Amino acid sequence: MENPVMKYTELEYIGRGTFGDVCRALDNATGGQVAIKKINLQELRKKELRVYELMVMKTNMNPNLVNYLDSYRVDGQLWLVMEYMDGGTLSDVISETYLSEDEMAAISRECLQGLDFLHSNHVIHRDVKSSNILLRTDGSVKLADSGLFAQLTPEQSRRSSVAGTSGWMAPEVVTGQPCGPKVDIWSFGIMGIEMVEREVPYWNETPVSPQLLIDIRGTPKLQQPNRFSPCLRDFLSCCLLRNEAQRWSAKELLQAWGTYKLLGQSVLVLHHALSKQVLP
Ligand code: ATP
Repeated sequence: MENPVMKYTELEYIGRGTFGDVCRALDNATGGQVAIKKINLQELRKKELRVYELMVMKTNMNPNLVNYLDSYRVDGQLWLVMEYMDGGTLSDVISETYLSEDEMAAISRECLQGLDFLHSNHVIHRDVKSSNILLRTDGSVKLADSGLFAQLTPEQSRRSSVAGTSGWMAPEVVTGQPCGPKVDIWSFGIMGIEMVEREVPYWNETPVSPQLLIDIRGTPKLQQPNRFSPCLRDFLSCCLLRNEAQRWSAKELLQAWGTYKLLGQSVLVLHHALSKQVLP
């Protein structure tokens, strides 16, 4: 019922995504900053609108998700008001600096916590990649761009629609099989390689047909594995298992990562945990 034009003062245009413009604005009542995504409703296909409605209604609040605060219909637009993330995207960070393994570990842990939350609530993100990870200068790391979120139900634990960005797509997505939450883990693994090598495996070979992509791709590997710790390599291997059933879940990775975070002797604990799985 409120008029958002009165409630918020627009400060600057941030950027444009598939669904519309995003701007930074001031919440006049609290003085806090927000981001407003303005979606042109006419441009949205019916299916996408349903996804958005779901997303707004669900309001999956979690410290590792860019949380939606409000939504408004303004003329022909849907305005989604969300937390403002002042640190840019992980993609920007990757292109501007080299991350240490500890920094990669910290970022990965936060992302996994967000994924674990979504998966525990039977939601698949479906577009995990570095440009969809937003950072805040207070150190927060959050998963963004929930436009492709897919809700699973107890009756429907897998989705067959193809969604996501080709370089990060899990094999089962590329080959059009019904897929579950582990598609996000594959994409997360590709994002791990992005953090390490500052580029997406086989990126120069795209765009190609999905089938060809999966054929040439095989399991992506680090180009110079010996430059990185065995722990990191094993961790990525567990994310990038082509067999979805063997691929680790967010929860399992988080447990292993939690011990890795402690470093020193706990690295051995992680290796012990990893050795229980069949590594490629
Ligand atoms: P696509 O829609 O194709 O996935 P995108 O993720 O770039 O592309 P948007 O999510 O609409 O599209 O974002 C547009 C721009 O606004 C991007 O630069 C993004 O980093 C920025 N942005 C989006 N949400 C926020 C936010 N909550 N805080 C700060 N910046 C944001």
